[in-house]
Amino acid sequence: MARLVMKFGGTSVADIDRIRNVARHVKREVDAGNEVAVVVSAMSGKTNELVSWTKEISPIHDAREYDAVVASGEQVTSGLLAMALQSMGVDARSWQGWQIPLKTDNAHGAARIEKIESELLIERISGGQVAVVAGFQGIGPDNRIATLGRGGSDTSAVAIAAAINANRCDIYTDVDGVYTTDPRIEPRAARMEKISFEEMLEMASLGAKVLQVRSVEMAMVHGVRTFVRSSFDDPESINSKEGSNDPVGTLICDEEEIVEREVVTGIAYSKDEAQISLRRVPDKPGISASIFGPLADAHINVDMIVQSVSEDGSKTDMTFTVPETDAAKALQVLEEQKETIAFENIQSDTGLSKISVIGIGMRSHAGVASTAFAALAEKNINIRAITTSEIKFSLLIDADYTELAVRTLHAVYGLNKYA
Ligand code: ASP
Ligand code: MG
Repeated sequence: MARLVMKFGGTSVADIDRIRNVARHVKREVDAGNEVAVVVSAMSGKTNELVSWTKEISPIHDAREYDAVVASGEQVTSGLLAMALQSMGVDARSWQGWQIPLKTDNAHGAARIEKIESELLIERISGGQVAVVAGFQGIGPDNRIATLGRGGSDTSAVAIAAAINANRCDIYTDVDGVYTTDPRIEPRAARMEKISFEEMLEMASLGAKVLQVRSVEMAMVHGVRTFVRSSFDDPESINSKEGSNDPVGTLICDEEEIVEREVVTGIAYSKDEAQISLRRVPDKPGISASIFGPLADAHINVDMIVQSVSEDGSKTDMTFTVPETDAAKALQVLEEQKETIAFENIQSDTGLSKISVIGIGMRSHAGVASTAFAALAEKNINIRAITTSEIKFSLLIDADYTELAVRTLHAVYGLNKYA
């Protein structure tokens, strides 16, 4: 017997038939003798609709009322799933964030979970009742509903798994796991059996959209083994299509649990990057602070930063990337600071992509990145900037070459499934 959290995303609860299908997945685990808490998202498209209504009523509105509106999608699906379970003879009860309570901070619209008072939940599930929890929501210190940011029900699920001491958190979604790269770009991408928390955190931060980044952070901090699998699998059969007894999916776990460690495990990419260069800024202490301080205050997320060697020890160039959507704002902020920063001119380029190569094996292998440089050179792809960290490196290139670069790197690191 195990204690499980099962999380179902928007496409898995998109209509009544699919909610029934979810109930069959839950019943299977209950029949197997497991204690179960389920976390649900809103029906797919619902949250977008609710958000658009709040904007239509008033473009500038009270964030607490925004939360009151957008949290309602999950209230509906949690109630419906509880009904579906009851009608199949499974004891079940829905829980809103405030009923648990799942306590958050005061940042309405993007609240962080502070504490989950799980005693009542544990009492019910260990008594055999399925808890159907509305994801994405909690209650703030002001005693009002607070939501956790878009995609937040992943984080609800992992946090609840940690709070009730679950053996595993199963994330049922519309894909059957985490892939070595985006299969739409490289059909030979393979599903990973296992990936470490750290690698998954990089993959999620760098553009793989399977899980909300915060949920992976939470899983890593609390050591919650998280299994990503498809909700479209036959609910009554847990047998894998590939003939093993495990269901098909990807386990996100501690690296100790991974026996076969590859040097490179995945290639991620993000399009729509912009590059900004400040030419001939004085090379003196405080210059970075004078550039990146105001950008941070404007909530602009700066990513890759490259400072060139100064020509004669007095002036240098500072180049960095921001999301394309923030480029205009960044330029404006910097122009306003022109006097203080004392740059000669600004250049900016849009239409760039960041390609990242990830793998814990990089910690102990030298020369991993140089393989990429050579492979891209051979395809005549120019690298504009490079950043490295312990388990990944990222390359900035022209967006036109995104697909080619992803496929080239996927092949050169031996990730192609049919290689
Ligand atoms: N329904 C919310 C959203 O669409 C939360 C979630 O699905 O994770 O962002
Ligand atoms: Mg999601």
